[in-house]
Amino acid sequence: MSKDKSDNTISYKRFLLTTKGLPLLSKRVFLIFKRFDFGVKKIDRCILDYIYILRKYNCRPTLFTTAVLLTRYPSIFKNYLKEGAEFGCHGLFHGDYTQLSFEDQVKQMNGARTFFQECAIPCRGFRPPYLKWCHATTRALREAHYEWSSNQVILWDILKQDDFKERYWSDYQKSITDIYLPQREDRAYPLPNEREGIIDIPVSIPDDEILIDRLRITNQEHIFDYWKAIFDKIYQSGGVFVHIAHHERMSYFNEALDALLKYVTNAKHSTWIATLQEIYQWWKERNTFSFRIEKSGENEYCVQCNCSPRATVLLKRSSNNGGYNLNGYRVIHDRPFIYRGPRKPAIGIPANAPDELQSNLRSSGFAYEISSRQEDYEIFLDEKQSASNNLKNLLEFIESSSGNVLRFWNWPDGHKCAFSASSDIDSITLKDFYYRAKEFSDYRTFLKTQEQSRDKRKNKV
Ligand SMILES: [Zn+2]
Repeated sequence: MSKDKSDNTISYKRFLLTTKGLPLLSKRVFLIFKRFDFGVKKIDRCILDYIYILRKYNCRPTLFTTAVLLTRYPSIFKNYLKEGAEFGCHGLFHGDYTQLSFEDQVKQMNGARTFFQECAIPCRGFRPPYLKWCHATTRALREAHYEWSSNQVILWDILKQDDFKERYWSDYQKSITDIYLPQREDRAYPLPNEREGIIDIPVSIPDDEILIDRLRITNQEHIFDYWKAIFDKIYQSGGVFVHIAHHERMSYFNEALDALLKYVTNAKHSTWIATLQEIYQWWKERNTFSFRIEKSGENEYCVQCNCSPRATVLLKRSSNNGGYNLNGYRVIHDRPFIYRGPRKPAIGIPANAPDELQSNLRSSGFAYEISSRQEDYEIFLDEKQSASNNLKNLLEFIESSSGNVLRFWNWPDGHKCAFSASSDIDSITLKDFYYRAKEFSDYRTFLKTQEQSRDKRKNKV
């Protein structure tokens, strides 16, 4: 055990040195002392301010925190719950989960869930510390009965190297290659997606750490401009912008956050502002929707929409004949309804199409059927198109086609896109930083001590 412990402590120090480098690490230590205090008041104020800014726009944040912080400061976390925040688990301790075996990840996640339950704080989702995860993390989440995660990271191409000093740009690059390991925007689509039975809701960066600590942006108008640029791209695509922030930088981005929410809530088409738990619940509900399209006459089809009243049903039309439009589609309110046209308003796919194509069609909500009768469908994906397993390419192909197809839109009640605010609470006081490395390497002892005190409490009762 002691060998494990020292190995892990060394690897934690190595992790900090690799991901930040010595100059950035020294700067980080300076900033920690500037931003945190020995008591809870300073950071508690920052978190409450964060909640209050969002509240002005009816936005409830999802706060990810470690279970060890909950046990240390239960009353302040209960207060955030009372103030409207929702919680997600940020691990038992703040450490790199990819360094743990599958079994250890399960133990830490189960341990964390118990602490959330004991504090009576509902928590069904997970975001790993440093946004570092591996295949085993997703399997461990399912094993430990979590329902959703916010692990995947999408990096939006909104920064220009020429705008920054070389040293700052290289600090930023370091965060991309050593910590976040994001998908680039041309390879990713900002929508929830299911992996190993867990629905993941991807988070979008650059975040406050990149903009403020790495690229040293001090002007809040510039921070707003970058976040606005991300929102504009996501709004266009109809995806979800999961914003991530860290409360200790609150005074550096509070005005930018306020401006972003104002901008989001004033967009032409409405944006669904929801917590990550609400997005998960919606996605689960939407996954059960289906179309039934039957011929009811010459050039006429009866369309049954098996869905909840919240569903947004869309029909792609090559020629627009009025009605409310969303992303170039017409919103259909009647259920069931009669579609008039020579072919089924659906996508036909061959029987040998890969499973991934079906799952992409399902997740993007399109009406599709497996068939060899190409002539029956408004759009038919031949073998070559079916082989493309990239959701983004598939959507681009369908959008550029002139076929009239039906789909369930990504979001409920006619919203064009979604926005969710999230914050990672890694530490409340200076002493939490001191404990971090030690805790992660020695978590078995921690769990044992907690179990013993739990038993003592039970015996007393
Ligand atoms: Zn964290």
